[in-house]
Amino acid sequence: MSKHEVLMNIFGFGSFRKGQEEIIDAVLNKSDVLAMLPTGTGKSLCYQLPGYLLNGTVLIVSPLISLMQDQVDQLRMIGEKRAVALNSFLSFNEKNRVLQNLSYFRFIYISPEMLSSEYIIKKLEQLEISLFVIDEAHCISQWGHDFRPDYLNLGAVRSRLGDPPVLALTATATIEVREDIKQYLQLNNPKEFIYSVDRPNISLVVEKFEKHMKKKQRLIELIRLLEKPGVIYFSSKRLAEETVEYLRQNGFNDVAAYHGGMDPEQRILIQQQFLYGQIKIICATSAFGMGINKNNIRFIIHYHIPGQMESYLQEVGRAGRDSKQSIAFMLYCNGDELLQLQLIENELPNDIQIESYYSNESNKKGAEELNLTETQWRFLQFYQSSNMNADQVKAIKQERRLFKLNKLKQMLRWVHSYNCRRMQVMNHFNEKLLKPPINCCDICSFNINDFQEKQVMDSKAENLSWEKRLQQLLLIESG
Ligand code: ADP
Repeated sequence: MSKHEVLMNIFGFGSFRKGQEEIIDAVLNKSDVLAMLPTGTGKSLCYQLPGYLLNGTVLIVSPLISLMQDQVDQLRMIGEKRAVALNSFLSFNEKNRVLQNLSYFRFIYISPEMLSSEYIIKKLEQLEISLFVIDEAHCISQWGHDFRPDYLNLGAVRSRLGDPPVLALTATATIEVREDIKQYLQLNNPKEFIYSVDRPNISLVVEKFEKHMKKKQRLIELIRLLEKPGVIYFSSKRLAEETVEYLRQNGFNDVAAYHGGMDPEQRILIQQQFLYGQIKIICATSAFGMGINKNNIRFIIHYHIPGQMESYLQEVGRAGRDSKQSIAFMLYCNGDELLQLQLIENELPNDIQIESYYSNESNKKGAEELNLTETQWRFLQFYQSSNMNADQVKAIKQERRLFKLNKLKQMLRWVHSYNCRRMQVMNHFNEKLLKPPINCCDICSFNINDFQEKQVMDSKAENLSWEKRLQQLLLIESG
């Protein structure tokens, strides 16, 4: 089959989207590839389609278990049975069954932690890996917005697997992050496909408030006004839940919360209800997003300021995947950054925790006994296994902390600035804005009427007196 036949017969698509064909050609030529495509443009196809034309297994590293399962389910939906997700969710028996039959699979999704197991590497060594895909490749860089220390091992894993060609995929990576990806994955003279991070169909609007009450009122107004579905992002699980209650009290019933503290089953249920339109508004933390394949999200509201531009862009990018007009509001109230500051301080272990982890006795204790979160625990385990001592780990932690504080400052500067929002976002990624769209941002121009729910528009029209309507008609007629 040719690539066009695979595209049509297996995936049911008539044509490639921007970027896909070039990336697929480079992959089929067995080059190492670094591709940056905006969220929602169809990165998965860039390795799934070659999976049908290359001999061997496509091994895909993915940071999120839910994301992996989602991809496997989607492949099953198009009739692909030879896809599996290897992660800690599998029971002992299931995992063994998969590992005994690894060569059967065309697509193996795997979490980075699994790749630190010698047993699993030995199993994978026996396969012919035709392509080693690193999804969300920015996770490899500590300058990225979602650093995963486990990703740092992937270069070594690649050598163990006989240096298969690599496809590194990301939606948002600054130049520094892209350099890190190339270096840590030991990419060999890679072909780079970097597409603009800009999403011209999403208007970027910032509104500032002195008082929280005013911001809450504005939220209600916006939700009444804006076309749905939409997502409201919060930095705190508690506030996401409280806002669901607040919205319900204000007459919105098709609202639900979504955050990492909820049971996986409950989250899947909410995702499905959102996907099928029973829920119109989600109050979420950043846990909501990756792997959620809903293309008609019309608005994103940031109720809290995100920690950095990269996260902002990723979250805003959930809107308007169908290319229709969509809008992103950031509602900022003085002092909102305190929540982010707290998150930065708590993300990594503090000096006392680092010391107690390293002290011989407590070293044998688990994360819970030491009062460490999963991220803190993984951070410490990774650096200890890389033979770093407590002082070196403290220094790494401090560097990362300062880096994040700086990122937050950049975000605040953006909120308070009077220059085109889009231009600044693009400059952050070393791009230039050539022609702003009509509904660009609150600084340039945008027309809120273009984003309103149809009923709101109709009821406004009904409320007008006949004289006003006649006046409007005459104005339209006279051009
Ligand atoms: P990303 O990983 O870039 O966010 P996905 O790979 O999940 O995006 O794809 C987003 C959506 O686009 C999916 O629903 C997918 O089926 C669809 N898609 C991908 N490529 C094409 C194409 N060439 N034509 C039509 N739809 C496509």
